[in-house]
Amino acid sequence: MASTSHQPVQGMSDIAPPDVALWQMIEQRAREVFARYRFSEVRTPVLEKLELFTHSLGDTTDVVTKEMYTLEDRGGRKLALRPEGTAGAIRYVASGGEETANARIFYMGPMFRCERPQAGRKRQFHQIGLEAVGAPNPLADAEVIALQVHLLAAWGLKGAKIRLNTIGLPEDRAAVLAGLRKAILPRLHELPEEAQQRFETNVLRLLDSKDPVVKKIIAEVPSVIEFMSASSRAYLDTVIATLKKLEIDVEIDATLVRGLDYYVHTVWEVVHGGLGAQNALSGGGRYRIQLDGKAVDGVGFAMGVERVIAALEATGVTASQFAPPPPVFIVSLGEVALNENLLLLQMLRQRGIACEMELSARKVQAQMRRADKVGAQVVVIRGDTELEKGTFVVKNMADGSQREVELPELIKLL
Ligand code: AMP
Repeated sequence: MASTSHQPVQGMSDIAPPDVALWQMIEQRAREVFARYRFSEVRTPVLEKLELFTHSLGDTTDVVTKEMYTLEDRGGRKLALRPEGTAGAIRYVASGGEETANARIFYMGPMFRCERPQAGRKRQFHQIGLEAVGAPNPLADAEVIALQVHLLAAWGLKGAKIRLNTIGLPEDRAAVLAGLRKAILPRLHELPEEAQQRFETNVLRLLDSKDPVVKKIIAEVPSVIEFMSASSRAYLDTVIATLKKLEIDVEIDATLVRGLDYYVHTVWEVVHGGLGAQNALSGGGRYRIQLDGKAVDGVGFAMGVERVIAALEATGVTASQFAPPPPVFIVSLGEVALNENLLLLQMLRQRGIACEMELSARKVQAQMRRADKVGAQVVVIRGDTELEKGTFVVKNMADGSQREVELPELIKLL
């Protein structure tokens, strides 16, 4: 399709009525759930120093090396549009904005990644995310997962599944890599060439390979969890036991590795069957982020709002279910009534009633057509006669019935 000046940038979309009603429902219910768990909203800038992301996310990750929108401002400073929300949130916490030992914050907003646009992958997409900052504690991980399950229920989303794994600690890394290499080595020749290269450069990435040959071999070697220290395994066991106590179902999946470098211990993903290839609604995990030599520990998740909406729609939820209530429409017969009706319009709005009217003199039929178009179920008609009597004609659009009432009755009716 030829690009025209009134289309947004490729991979980015306008979010507008009627769909926006679903977005509002999602945001509003998320705010309610976050409040119950005592998380507060933080709105960080969408533009940050480039180094914030290269330092915190890891400068070899795909997001950082291939997908960031970077720019130089007029002073030659290197900046980036945020590709995710955790780095900015943690920068805010580390700046002294919150107590680093125990901050509970959430955010909502657009993120930017210059990925190849395809179904489920946008270049501007939106996340609702949360960070529980504080020292590693398996109960904190379980609490955040419980919150996420609560959130899915608040949105009315059914059919989501949680896959959970552990990355262990950096101290486990050498043993995990060595163990995995040793287990795969005898079968290295069976792997496709690209996977053989991965074996050398980043053997962990073989775990989430989509290649059926790689998948089969990975399924047959010991799980990464077995190569970890006893304390890392105990951490995972406590997370699992706590979730069980809270009656939250998770599937332990030792092939789950997350894309960013800062994860430690628990990682998880929420997936939904209604989504097709890009089936992840959310990524989450515990992290240790280094900022200016200071380590900040926390646990959090980010949910993709577009994916949540796609999953809701796949289960039959529609934006129209959350559309605003229909307005009252005021019809004016003549110029004098039009001016008086302006007062009525304002008075009704101040009383909390959504209403509309034509602001220029038009034929009654044209005004009625407009009332129909905006979905009005009640129309209030006023002309010279009604003005003189101090009355209003109220028309029910569903059955066409009409009655004439005075102001107190009108207010009661609406
Ligand atoms: P990540 O920060 O990569 O762990 O992503 C967290 C969640 O954000 C994913 O599970 C998706 O739901 C969503 N997400 C990530 N990248 C995109 C994208 N390019 N387009 C739409 N949603 C995305």
